[in-house]
Amino acid sequence: MKIMRYEAGGGASYGILDNEMVYTASGDLFTGLRRGDKVGSLAEVTLLTPVQPGKIVCVGLNYAAHVTENDASRAVPDEPVLFMKPNSTLIAISEQIRIANPNHRTDYEAELVIVIGKRARGVSEADAAAHILGFTAGNDVSDRVLQAKDGQWVRAKGFDTYCPLGPCIETELDVRDVKVESRLNGEVRQSQTTASMIFNPHFLVSYISKVMTLDPGDIILTGTPEGVGPMKSGDTIKVEVGGVGVLRNPVTNR
Ligand code: MG
Repeated sequence: MKIMRYEAGGGASYGILDNEMVYTASGDLFTGLRRGDKVGSLAEVTLLTPVQPGKIVCVGLNYAAHVTENDASRAVPDEPVLFMKPNSTLIAISEQIRIANPNHRTDYEAELVIVIGKRARGVSEADAAAHILGFTAGNDVSDRVLQAKDGQWVRAKGFDTYCPLGPCIETELDVRDVKVESRLNGEVRQSQTTASMIFNPHFLVSYISKVMTLDPGDIILTGTPEGVGPMKSGDTIKVEVGGVGVLRNPVTNR
């Protein structure tokens, strides 16, 4: 099932997407949505971020070929590298990425995103699936100059609009071998599958849940494959996660 959130009557409603058509959804996102009446085609609604997370947890350096692409001396991590982005980074499909420092290299990072469905605290890898609602696509926008300068990544990855998310949550995705791709102005820049992740999504949920309690709606960005590169004002960046769809955002300066 594809779950999306859209503008309706001045507020937000959850909907279910089927064959490019949007249907109303009743019930609760985390305990079960039921499909209702037809709202219209996807083009007729304004999509919002598919979830409003309490936490945005991110994993760095989770594809071996990406670890060394900007720094050949960097070692492949023996444990997941964790960081977080503030919720103020979130934007939906079609919203503008506003580059804070146009004179800094500012990269796209296509990522598979886990959406937590059930509270997870100290869960095992084998139990992780029961705590996952589904998966979406994200773009971990990164200011490379500040990332190198600051030594930690809060500022470099924390500017407003630096976390496009969507378009929907796919609840029935087999994430063992899913395509993660980015296209800048239509040209493929990253194209890999989750089969080349160093730490798989279920391991990540387990690992992170032993650090912090994960609540329903929290999201985990699972790292980006090789092929990252800069964006500039006027560009359009698309992130595609197989089975989820395409997250498209225009780029402008702040
Ligand atoms: Mg990233």
